[in-house]
Amino acid sequence: MPPIRRSNLGRRTRNAINQANYRSNRTAQERDDGNERERIRISQTREARARHSTNNRASLNPAAFSYDVSIDYSNYQCVVIGSMNLVCSHCKALKYKNEANGLCCANGKVKLIPLDPPPEPLYSLVSGIGTDSIHFLTHIQQYNNCFQMTSFGATNVVRENFMLTFKIQGQIYHRAGSLLPVSDSDNKFLQIYFMGNSPQEIDLRCAHNNLVKRSIVEQLQTLFHQHNQLIILFKTALDLMPSDNHKIVIRADKTPAGQHTRRFNAPTIDEVAIVVVGENLESRDIVLHRRNDQLQRIKETHRSYDALQYPIIFWQGEDGYDFSIKMINPITGSETIKKVSSMNYYSYRLMIRENEDNHILKCRRLYHKYVVDMYVKIETERLTFIRLNQTKLRSEEYIHLRDAINTDGNAQNVGRMTILPATYIGSPRHMHEYAQDAMSYVRHYGTADLFITFTCNPQWIEVKPELFPGQSPIDRHDITARVFRQKLKSLINFIVKHNVFDKAK
Ligand SMILES: [Zn+2]
Repeated sequence: MPPIRRSNLGRRTRNAINQANYRSNRTAQERDDGNERERIRISQTREARARHSTNNRASLNPAAFSYDVSIDYSNYQCVVIGSMNLVCSHCKALKYKNEANGLCCANGKVKLIPLDPPPEPLYSLVSGIGTDSIHFLTHIQQYNNCFQMTSFGATNVVRENFMLTFKIQGQIYHRAGSLLPVSDSDNKFLQIYFMGNSPQEIDLRCAHNNLVKRSIVEQLQTLFHQHNQLIILFKTALDLMPSDNHKIVIRADKTPAGQHTRRFNAPTIDEVAIVVVGENLESRDIVLHRRNDQLQRIKETHRSYDALQYPIIFWQGEDGYDFSIKMINPITGSETIKKVSSMNYYSYRLMIRENEDNHILKCRRLYHKYVVDMYVKIETERLTFIRLNQTKLRSEEYIHLRDAINTDGNAQNVGRMTILPATYIGSPRHMHEYAQDAMSYVRHYGTADLFITFTCNPQWIEVKPELFPGQSPIDRHDITARVFRQKLKSLINFIVKHNVFDKAK
């Protein structure tokens, strides 16, 4: 094997010869000038390096007591949160540098089929460009109300003065009626789709929502009749129902078969939905009668829950979250036995991705409602887990509670008690634990020196670049929440790690 040539050390290259010729031929004046230039260059580099290190590495301990107006503290490396430009290697989600790896796709374990961007005219309407789009986005909730197939209800929808944010208390429920109205009552919600008379349908939709434009409603109606697979499915089912005793059942746990089971294919009657007369069905299935006056509550874990309530977002009737979605192995890409939680599912859905158009984030107030609705779903899932796993959580070990149950033996009070553990955020036990911790800190370290209130400023420079055309920070709670979290983390580091108030205990 020939020896490996190490480098050009000592070799007479063309460049080296040229350099040597240039040096030997220059005058004394030229040589001095050259040396002077080099000296200046080196000193400038050193100064710049020194400046950089004061900004980044200089000790901030205890800078709070020697505040210097001439220093721009906001440039310190420990304060800057950077921009949203870190790309997740698994799902291509854009993140801030200090955000957790698992935030977007649980480290590659969650992979969902991207939602298709809507076709025209819906695409332009959600873009935020043009007068029609501005009008549409201002009244997007009303437009959604025109087309929603289920009714929305909550224990209490909070409406204080003027509020741009959607807020509820208690539970959310979606309800669906029958496909056809009972005699002499008006068509409502889903029933409007089967009137069979397009201008009448539009009239009825506009009658309940006075701020909408008739022309836009007409365009959207054509779009949904053409593309929304759920509506197409219901129409087919209606043709197959000879009497009012018939009902259509959309199975909660069946997805269209085929090579891409998670891909949204047009569901066919025999695959995911059946028309029956009377049969015992699973509690999670959606059962719609041909004609009756009862309302059915849609279970939030049914895969069509989202599409029935938010046709503007799920214009094709795409599936939402359900129990059957499995995690994948990030390396091999094969399915594992672990299930994707609703939290995993929706955090994946709400990410901003490289080269991907996420139209959910453009829907402004409808997006608020959607996020609130889905968060209730996440909380419900957590509470159900706690209810079903009381023995695993060892709730009987809570001593005070055991005493209370023994002494408070009211024979009338027969339901099964569910105990929320301290790990459930916001529960009384969790709050109590915080209070107890605070007491022990004070006992050990003495009283606190700082009481800091840190609020979010929607004008922060990090928020603006992430907004879509025409959006204001209030339209994007996801961005403000993420930026706030990063800023809060850096404030805590500023005090605890960089010791601006001297050593923190
Ligand atoms: Zn990811």
